[in-house]
Amino acid sequence: MKVLKFGGTSLGSAQRIKQVAEIISRENHCIVVCSAMAGVTDTLQEISSCWSRGNKQESFKIKADLLGFFEKHSRELFSGQYGFFKFREQLIFYFEEVEKLLRGHWTKQKEMQLLALGEVITSRLLQAYFLTELTQEIKRLDAFEFLHLNQGGDPSVSDIAQKLKNNYGKELSGRLITQGFICLDNSGGASNLGRGGSDFTATLLGAAIEASSIEIWTDIDGLRNNDPRYVDNTKALREISYAEAAELAYFGAKILHPACVWPASRQNIPIFLKNTLNPGSPGTAISGNVRASGIRAISAKSGISMVRIESARMLNAYGFLRRVFEIFDQWETPIDVITTSEVSISLTIDNPYYLEEIAASLEKFGKVTIEREQAIICVVGDVLACRQEHAGRIMKAMKPFQVNMLSFGGSRNNLTAVLPAKEKKDALQALHQQLFLQTQVPVTA
Ligand code: ADP
Ligand code: ASP
Ligand code: MG
Repeated sequence: MKVLKFGGTSLGSAQRIKQVAEIISRENHCIVVCSAMAGVTDTLQEISSCWSRGNKQESFKIKADLLGFFEKHSRELFSGQYGFFKFREQLIFYFEEVEKLLRGHWTKQKEMQLLALGEVITSRLLQAYFLTELTQEIKRLDAFEFLHLNQGGDPSVSDIAQKLKNNYGKELSGRLITQGFICLDNSGGASNLGRGGSDFTATLLGAAIEASSIEIWTDIDGLRNNDPRYVDNTKALREISYAEAAELAYFGAKILHPACVWPASRQNIPIFLKNTLNPGSPGTAISGNVRASGIRAISAKSGISMVRIESARMLNAYGFLRRVFEIFDQWETPIDVITTSEVSISLTIDNPYYLEEIAASLEKFGKVTIEREQAIICVVGDVLACRQEHAGRIMKAMKPFQVNMLSFGGSRNNLTAVLPAKEKKDALQALHQQLFLQTQVPVTA
């Protein structure tokens, strides 16, 4: 059994939904994971923000426009009145739910329930198209029934497998459709896996059912060797290892959710990145048996804060790093990149929520400096093996930029640099030029 995930752009219009249905129709046994139609989660987020700021009129206006959006696309999708009106009944039901949520004061739980509706409605629309328009069977799995977070806020593959077995048992065959992104938290309230989380749903499900493969269908011909939003002349990689893909995803390659590689890699299930707009293109295969070498790709993520702690007490002291890390632990803030010298530590975080509190707690160790609005650039490939060939080139490309941290050798396959976010685009382009476009450098793809 395969898992097929379709992103928001792939489902963004009636025409796209028809293309997606064609791709699904080729499979007799699969679980389809649906994102919300492109822009819908943003719109739901806007309704929530307006309501929480007390701008109720604006919330109602955006809600009415969103209903109009779904009506327009579903009218186009169904050839006759019957299909459209049948689906519209469901649509009205969900928008009445929104109406109920928008009564009284706003809570985080209401926001979560509201955000879930993008995936819920889109999956209903695709299912309705299969049933009434194509007259083909496709059964529905409710993500709220099998994807529950534990106390630490994490999903568990074995728990999903157990819940699928308990709730669906033998029904788990043929064509099935479910919602990406959404889940329940450990007290049973609506929650989600974070923006872009449908990729993660797909790989978690893939691991839970021991899928033969996981296909992530999106709007581009596979994973490219640099971020196509900032750099021209990027090239699709035909294959990439789990470790490389995980690094790229974690450090900003938006095509994959940052956490989505591990469930598949743990069970050696291949992930294929495919383009809905160009299904014939080979896309990218992510697996455990990739032989390619050399520098493979570059990615970047912004919104980074850098924390530097300078302390003479570090000199010859043991247990110092532990005490520093305990503070980040206490404030539940993960650290991304770290470098140390004899008397200072620099590290980065991408969740600044408790930054003030962390800085205050760290002051007992020494002088604390914070640099906000930084970006991490990540060069991925056989970096350690190619250091003689490439380290100089990377340094050369980075020369015009204000590099605040450089981390090399932490793993075999990545080099990370931290610089001001406003320099990110130029640095990505300079690295691309140096590493991929200069003729004497072999590029593996
Ligand atoms: P979906 O809605 O299908 O989940 P996303 O917008 O989340 O799609 O991801 C696809 C987008 O990721 C592409 O359109 C592209 O702009 C962006 N992207 C960023 N880095 C990369 C990369 N290295 N390779 C391919 N796409 C990338
Ligand atoms: N709809 C969600 C988002 O826009 C999840 C996803 O698309 O993967 O973030
Ligand atoms: Mg995505």
